[in-house]
Amino acid sequence: MMVADFRRRFWVSIALTVPAVVLAEMIQHWLGVRETLHFSGDGYVEWVVASGIFFYGGWPFLKGLKNELADRQPGMMTLIALAITVAYVYSSAVAFGLAGNVFFWELATLIDVMLLGHWIEMRSVMGASAALESLVRLMPAEAHRVRADGSAEEVPVTSLRPGDRVLVKPGEKIPIDGVIIEGRTSVNQAMLTGESKPVEKEVGDEVIGGSVNGESAVVLEVRKTGDQTYLSQVIEMVRKAQESRSRTQDLANRAALWLTIIAISVGAGTLAVWLALGKDFAFGIERAVTVMVIACPHALGLAVPLVVAVSTAISAKNGLLIRDRSAFERSRNVNAILFDKTGTLTEGRFGVTDVIALGGATADEVLATAASLESQSEHPIAQGIVNGAKEKGLSVSAPKDFTAIPGRGAHAIVGGRNVKVVSPGYLKEHALVVENARIAEVAAQGKTVVYVLIDDKLEGAIALADIIRKESREALRRLKEMGIQVMMITGDAKPVAAWVARELELDDYFSEVLPDQKADKVKEVQKRGLIVAMTGDGVNDAPALTQADVGIAVGAGTDVAIESADIVLVRSDPRDVMAIMFLSRATYRKMVQNLIWATGYNVVAIPLAAGVLYKFGILLSPAAGAALMAVSTVIVAINARLLSVPELRD
Ligand code: ADP
Ligand code: MG
Repeated sequence: MMVADFRRRFWVSIALTVPAVVLAEMIQHWLGVRETLHFSGDGYVEWVVASGIFFYGGWPFLKGLKNELADRQPGMMTLIALAITVAYVYSSAVAFGLAGNVFFWELATLIDVMLLGHWIEMRSVMGASAALESLVRLMPAEAHRVRADGSAEEVPVTSLRPGDRVLVKPGEKIPIDGVIIEGRTSVNQAMLTGESKPVEKEVGDEVIGGSVNGESAVVLEVRKTGDQTYLSQVIEMVRKAQESRSRTQDLANRAALWLTIIAISVGAGTLAVWLALGKDFAFGIERAVTVMVIACPHALGLAVPLVVAVSTAISAKNGLLIRDRSAFERSRNVNAILFDKTGTLTEGRFGVTDVIALGGATADEVLATAASLESQSEHPIAQGIVNGAKEKGLSVSAPKDFTAIPGRGAHAIVGGRNVKVVSPGYLKEHALVVENARIAEVAAQGKTVVYVLIDDKLEGAIALADIIRKESREALRRLKEMGIQVMMITGDAKPVAAWVARELELDDYFSEVLPDQKADKVKEVQKRGLIVAMTGDGVNDAPALTQADVGIAVGAGTDVAIESADIVLVRSDPRDVMAIMFLSRATYRKMVQNLIWATGYNVVAIPLAAGVLYKFGILLSPAAGAALMAVSTVIVAINARLLSVPELRD
């Protein structure tokens, strides 16, 4: 609506600007066509045209003036409105007989540039959400629901319920979030994550509505519907981000307020001084208006929004979803990052390496029992144990009464017996001591060890290895080069944490941290005087993400509902954390550069416009002022486009 309004006003004003320029006496003189084009009464025609531009094109600014004054917050709009009003009123008076020069064509181009600026600004803000909304439009409206007898029927996507089975044919868009229950395929999620490589998906894997199915037909079971789906959440997130204020924009608005004050006082002062020096009123008012026109911060209004637009486009394309702009802007000052270990620094794909029997049961019995319990857990360790048992051909049965013990393990009834799989920390808490050379040995190799208790008796230990991501090393090295301390926080045991910390040369680490203690650890690091970013992957991490100066949730593909994060990374790649840091610094640098470009010329141009160098024959004409302004605007626009972060892929 608003965008279309600015666009219409812009084009109409441009059309009206043509006669305003052609009729302008000054331009006719410049082009040497004064004699041919001049006709009697052309001044009134020019006035009519300029009035059209002033009232139609200038309307949003006049309305903005009214709103800003009503809110007692004079800013950009006030200044623009004031400048165009003074120029218009003065020029109109001249057109009807006052001695002096009219500023009509300057007024026209001034309004054109202002409208263009606001139009671009709005479009850029809407652009990000428009891209996402187009995703929604791309979502199929219908799905093939599989009936009990196996046949498929066409139903609207909105009528799907969790648990429904849906057939997705090759090449079709996946209609909704779900889990594959039949078939295997590759899925292109480029639209959602920026990852251009298709991802292999098989039975048990989650797929996201809106991504594109590859070569084979699959059947999925619906998991999330309506506003719970990934895409709906992302859209909601972007919408909120756009509402959150940019602090740098506030800075620009404050600068505009100062320019307003300066423009008004210098304008009035200029008039007063020239009158006092004995110049006539026309000369004085012309200087005053030139000052106002020149002080009008075209470029200032665009300086920040243009950078925001470019930066938003870059981040969205790279799977970095910014929920809170001011937190993103804070990222440039971050000097410590707390990484979550499992799934962020490491792959989060555990493989069983050793099973150690500690009681009466055999190693295979220990693994099979643990796997039965873990078959209902979502934890990466659990998946590793289940896969380990399956690889050995052990039979895994369904547990009863499964309960997770957050940060410690899980328990359930397996085959009538009370089974627990727990962390070393849990053993310590329950005063259970294990002395075993093999366990000590595997732990020292950086393997994760969990213990299996059957009817509260320690029966065995399972060692699992996770792989440190290749990307972690590069990301951490670059972050350290930026002067950021890198730390790790994990619920895993100390030897594992120490091993990873050594491998990755971390500055510090916290191990055996229970979910409810994570926020305290963040506070602890903050007490060292550091500005802390924290990455987390689960709902468990919510308090810590809130406590951190910048909360970064990773792996949005699995859980976007992390309300407490400021930034959500679609992939669980530590290089994306690095990318955020680079992008926020580069974005801020560009904003500052642009603010300098936008205000810098005022410092030179305002005194010149006021006539400070008049004695030396240097007097800035309103036209020259407008040209200067245009140059400054173009510089600001080009400079924003030049924002690039080589560290980002693509
Ligand atoms: P992380 O910080 O690595 O994400 P968590 O807080 O998820 O760790 O878990 C901490 C520890 O609790 C794990 O290292 C493991 O010892 C234990 N644990 C948690 N859930 C399970 C489970 N389902 N099976 C076995 N051990 C578990
Ligand atoms: Mg975790």
